[in-house]
Amino acid sequence: MSAKICTDMYGQQAATGQAANRVRDHVLWRAGQRLAASHRACGENRDRCGDPRCAGAYPCLGRRIADQAIDASQREWPHRWTAEHDLRSYETALHATGRRR
Ligand SMILES: [Zn+2]
Repeated sequence: MSAKICTDMYGQQAATGQAANRVRDHVLWRAGQRLAASHRACGENRDRCGDPRCAGAYPCLGRRIADQAIDASQREWPHRWTAEHDLRSYETALHATGRRR
């Protein structure tokens, strides 16, 4: 069987178990994981995001914000505050442009 599977360039899935032990802000961590899950390099063109609503050059803005949120969720509050603000702003921008499902 040779089904096409979207894979994560950064191996995020493999790191998830270890990272979860260091998380200080689980809400931010989960929000980052959710965003990262939809913004992955996918298909034949590894330079493009697999999310059809995004399709930006990979790593796209959504992926970079997701990675920042996941990283910041394990750090001190100023990092978490900044990452949460960026993530919420990105989601708000998606709503405003009607690019959400
Ligand atoms: Zn994307």
